[in-house]
Amino acid sequence: MKVGHEIPVNSTAARVMGRGEVYESGKQHGSVCQDIPLPTRKPTAAELAWETFVDLSGAKFGRFTVIGLSDGIKGKWVVRCACGNYSARTSKAIRNPNNSADCCEECRHLLYLKKSEIWRRTGKHVALEELV
Ligand SMILES: [Zn+2]
Repeated sequence: MKVGHEIPVNSTAARVMGRGEVYESGKQHGSVCQDIPLPTRKPTAAELAWETFVDLSGAKFGRFTVIGLSDGIKGKWVVRCACGNYSARTSKAIRNPNNSADCCEECRHLLYLKKSEIWRRTGKHVALEELV
């Protein structure tokens, strides 16, 4: 018998010896989540004249870093997740202090998987904020 071609002793061994599984997030919540950078634009003179306008470029919240104003999605900022995916958020969402667990759709899906796995193993409910 060739080494590495033994018959696995049980299902766990079979998974360890197997070719592995491909993971693909099937999450589609409708919000933008892509690895191609979204176009940004400079704030207009009119926007800069607003008393309430704050340039959020470079701001960090959750797993996101603000890249710039979205050129195409009205009233939103382009944000990049720590995993490299791009999404869009309103300035209200960016400045919301309760949004500390915000991340892209794929990362959010992974967080939920992680949360349910911790629950399955330990019976403990962990807040998403603790997993980010
Ligand atoms: Zn992400």
